[in-house]
Amino acid sequence: MLNAQRYSITKHLPEFTQLEALIDRLHQYPFATPFSYKVIANIPSPLHFSDYTAKHFPLYAIHLGTRSPTAPLMLFVGGVHGLERIGSQVLLSYLHAITERLVWDRSLQHTLQHIHLVFIPLVNPVGMAKCYRSNGNHIDLMRNAPVECSEKAALLVGGHRLSPHIPWYRGQEGQPMEIEAAAVASYVIAQTQHRPVTLSLDCHSGFGVKDRLWFPYAHSAIRPFPYIGDIYHLRDKFLSTYPNHNYVFEPQALHYLCHGDLWDHISEQCLIQQQSILPLTLEMGSWRWIKKNPLQLRQSLGIFNPMRPQRVQRVLQKHIVLMDFLINATANYDAWFKHKDNHHYQQQAIMRWYS
Ligand SMILES: [Zn+2]
Repeated sequence: MLNAQRYSITKHLPEFTQLEALIDRLHQYPFATPFSYKVIANIPSPLHFSDYTAKHFPLYAIHLGTRSPTAPLMLFVGGVHGLERIGSQVLLSYLHAITERLVWDRSLQHTLQHIHLVFIPLVNPVGMAKCYRSNGNHIDLMRNAPVECSEKAALLVGGHRLSPHIPWYRGQEGQPMEIEAAAVASYVIAQTQHRPVTLSLDCHSGFGVKDRLWFPYAHSAIRPFPYIGDIYHLRDKFLSTYPNHNYVFEPQALHYLCHGDLWDHISEQCLIQQQSILPLTLEMGSWRWIKKNPLQLRQSLGIFNPMRPQRVQRVLQKHIVLMDFLINATANYDAWFKHKDNHHYQQQAIMRWYS
């Protein structure tokens, strides 16, 4: 049944307006750096918008940097869970900074001659407009991929098929993936082809007090991700370069196991095709924001997002160092990826996370 509530894009989905304005701006600037965008899916919108007449939301992927298909790729993804809008906001703010820097910053222009960037900052626009974790069909896009956890998946949180009215619903068995998840998976898998390495950062919020960087697997605590040596080395480079940042790097399975994780699925498909993707998920620790302002618990968005303007501003600034680092790590992947000392890093990783 159609929702009788009237929505306004400006009020309910400002991130979408901001994204389209950034695309417009990228079009206007006379960049030396190649820019393009693609609509990788059209998400049917069941909502009545007073200021947006289209019946679909375009799912945008923004491309910057060299068009060489053999260049390394850094991919930024956000807005998978509609309630965690700070993830999209962090990426839009960063994309704004990149756009402005490309006008004057020759070192960034130079870096982008050697790597390719893709931004998919708003994966779930209907869920975000409606303030759902899930998409518009009440399906959790991070539990919807065809990946089964054969160990002990967390009750409910780990994905279930009981009812779309309970969060973390995977969808019905045997159904194809939801349009948003399927589009991201097939697009990302296609983009990794022929590249020496793809790094990705998917921005979420809502778990604990610390900012965590999770990597696969989410469906197994006993099977290490084949690239843990490289991830450990990347972590080592980050922590030695930025000792004052305190991200916790760890496999997601250390906290809970789940079915249907989109990055597990993408990683497995890339491995089958002998493509290398190292997916990181940034879980911003939202409990810290709640501790500082417990009243925000009265709103569902308050559980997952900073609410006070100065705190939002701080969060938007905080992850720039990480994202700059990931771009530089992608450009200089030979300094850590498939490194001659990889075996050493792999042993360290096993000892730290799997012993
Ligand atoms: Zn999330």
